[in-house]
Amino acid sequence: MTGGGSWASMAAGLVLPRGCAGCDAPDEVLCPSCRALFDRTVAVPMPECPMGAAYACAVYEGAVRRAVLGWKDHGDEECDRAFATALCTLAERVDVLRRLGASGKDGVLVVPAPSSARSTRRRGRRHLMPSARALAAWCGRSGIDARVRRVLANAVDGGKAVETVGARGRAARLGGRIRVRGSAGLAGSRVILVDDIITTGATMRSCVAALDAAGAARVVCLALAATPRYGVSAM
Ligand SMILES: [Zn+2]
Repeated sequence: MTGGGSWASMAAGLVLPRGCAGCDAPDEVLCPSCRALFDRTVAVPMPECPMGAAYACAVYEGAVRRAVLGWKDHGDEECDRAFATALCTLAERVDVLRRLGASGKDGVLVVPAPSSARSTRRRGRRHLMPSARALAAWCGRSGIDARVRRVLANAVDGGKAVETVGARGRAARLGGRIRVRGSAGLAGSRVILVDDIITTGATMRSCVAALDAAGAARVVCLALAATPRYGVSAM
């Protein structure tokens, strides 16, 4: 049993062999064919990012949709590891560290996209954190210091927003739905932003605007899955 499993899921595992989170094939957390569905490169146009796009591991449909929903909203924590691996593989494939211009001394911040306080309470956990930690560890293996920082929050959850002025302030207000909880250390930072599902890209753009307003130098966006309107790239 790896870290993160609840007693309930351990107990369930002892009683009932589980099925694949995507297709229900017996005795697998995620079977090889479903795992392969998360080994893709889906580009979502995002002109404000240094790559001109956000990237996702999978197309959000069929078995991918089922597995992601089970993990995100129904507590299937056993998928943490497979999804973290998929995101690290994607980060490698799209050459995130080079695009960030990251070097050892500057370091990288891995920032999970925020969930509302209500969703976090309902889920009983921050489901993106295992993937964020895995991405930070992946940076470390490439010789780049990286830390996970939960600096973003949903604006609806209230609290004190970072002070913003001028054009950047306007961009932040246009972003609107996302706020920075504390801008310390964000000025000049290189950020890997990680989210679960890209639907229209609006949330991710809001996150980028908020990070930009707080002074981030470069933001690269990764997600587990993106809706089918975005095709699989040949990368
Ligand atoms: Zn499967």
